[in-house]
Amino acid sequence: MRIVLIAITAICLCVAWNCASDPPLPSETDTLKLITEGVWFRMGERENGHCNNVVIDVGEGLLVVDANFPSGAQALMEDIKQVTTKPVSYVFDTHHHGDHAYANAVWTRAGATTLAHVGVAEEMKRYEPARWQQTAQNREDVAAVGEDTVQPPQKTFSQVPHVLEGASRRVEFHHFGWAHTRGDGMVYLPDEKILCTGDAIVNGPFNYTGDGNTGNWPDVVGKALELGFETILPGHGSSGGREVAEGQRQFMQEINTAVEKAFEDKTPLEDLVTLEDGAGVATTVELSDEVGNWVGNRFAEQVRVRFAELAEGKPHGEILGGP
Ligand SMILES: [Zn+2]
Repeated sequence: MRIVLIAITAICLCVAWNCASDPPLPSETDTLKLITEGVWFRMGERENGHCNNVVIDVGEGLLVVDANFPSGAQALMEDIKQVTTKPVSYVFDTHHHGDHAYANAVWTRAGATTLAHVGVAEEMKRYEPARWQQTAQNREDVAAVGEDTVQPPQKTFSQVPHVLEGASRRVEFHHFGWAHTRGDGMVYLPDEKILCTGDAIVNGPFNYTGDGNTGNWPDVVGKALELGFETILPGHGSSGGREVAEGQRQFMQEINTAVEKAFEDKTPLEDLVTLEDGAGVATTVELSDEVGNWVGNRFAEQVRVRFAELAEGKPHGEILGGP
């Protein structure tokens, strides 16, 4: 009996010792980078169409910025488990695009609450279920969700800033108007001076203007710049400082200035943009070297979109999606 008791005691001590000596979780992984305590940034795999994600520890749980595509959400879930045992309580959709919102159902099934500006839900009504069904034909991860359309955000807000007072930090959700989409939301951490911008501010040649309002875009970025942020965590491209927002604003301003002048001079679209199947593939417009970071293979189409806004007298998103 005594030997058995000693053996049991030894096993208990051993288990307790092992528990106590579990190595602490790493502060970050190769893909989930620590920005400041309790705030991580994950750059999406471009080859899989993923957007970037931000993970914010709000005390009682985690806030994830952007649902991503389902495969991006799965990758993020695996990364999160490496650095914290806290659950994902909230997922904020910065806008309605598939690479930012199509995993909404994946997150809510895992226990999170999805949240967005009311404009995100309204954009989904305009463009879905057509885009979801089109995407599900080409993406296994979207088809595997087993839904006929995107799951809209469970909670929406229209008053801004919408504030989440977490046990460990304050989070502000902003909407400065229509740039990339009618629902563009940004997440601001005022104490840490970190701004998560979605696709209204990107770091590189990633601007998609189809659902956008290029004419209004510089104004939206200008309002964001009034926040005293020091760090930008964008929807695509690497993290940076205020220069990312300043460059994004200047890029849109230069497109607007060049196309507005051509429009006033009655330059025909064909002299500005080479079209293929109605889309811009080359352009005579040249921008300054300062905004070279944002000029890529979508540039001619961005010029065409701004021209169409002037010709039709309304934002391109209204030409594409209706009022
Ligand atoms: Zn987008």
